[in-house]
Amino acid sequence: MLHALEAWLRATAVRIHEQAPTLTALDQAIGDGDHGINLDRGFSAVVKALDGREPADPGKSDAVASAELVKLVGRTLISTVGGASGPLYGTGFLRASAALANLPADPPPSGGLAFVTALEAAATGIGALGKSTTGEKTMLDALVPSASAARAALDSGAPLGAVVVAARDAAAEGAAATVPMLATKGRASYLGERSIGHQDPGATSAALLLDILAGVLADVPA
Ligand code: ADP
Ligand code: MG
Repeated sequence: MLHALEAWLRATAVRIHEQAPTLTALDQAIGDGDHGINLDRGFSAVVKALDGREPADPGKSDAVASAELVKLVGRTLISTVGGASGPLYGTGFLRASAALANLPADPPPSGGLAFVTALEAAATGIGALGKSTTGEKTMLDALVPSASAARAALDSGAPLGAVVVAARDAAAEGAAATVPMLATKGRASYLGERSIGHQDPGATSAALLLDILAGVLADVPA
């Protein structure tokens, strides 16, 4: 799990950098035009933190080391990303880390269970911090249906790769579904009716993060 997680974070830094202009353009339409810049800064700091880490203690379980890495990501995003998305994504990662640390260690959790647990905790944590829920044109419109689809796939016996693909597809659909929504949270809500007709930047980046993970898992066994 640790190996796939690290591959995902490194791939994310590259893809977010490439996609930063697109995310920023979406945020120019209904926000202040910094979403791509914010996440690019955050994930490049995550890669720096990864590079600067002490070598992993070989006595630590994969699950514990993975939870610690997810916590490092959360802290790094909170401390380096300005704007709403830094604390929101950062808190999502911190909550995911705590949920991973709480999973029973013996037998070790499957990759699918770890992923679903982390995604559900992230979505819940973001909603709690943002006092937000689905239908308000935010990243939750990608993350909440994504977590539900992932849980359903897991419950039907799907392996990790298929669980993540289900999460990715639902997130993409959820992001697209933000276009006709009226924003009632964050900066986009200042626009009122003028927020209608644009895809939410945070929902778009959330769907991108899951797309990158699905791509990484197709290449790197968890
Ligand atoms: P800022 O809005 O401070 O400029 P960003 O542009 O980086 O921060 O992020 C904007 C995104 O944050 C929005 O597109 C939306 O998805 C998300 N967002 C803003 N407020 C909330 C909230 N209360 N709950 C969930 N997500 C939110
Ligand atoms: Mg912004």
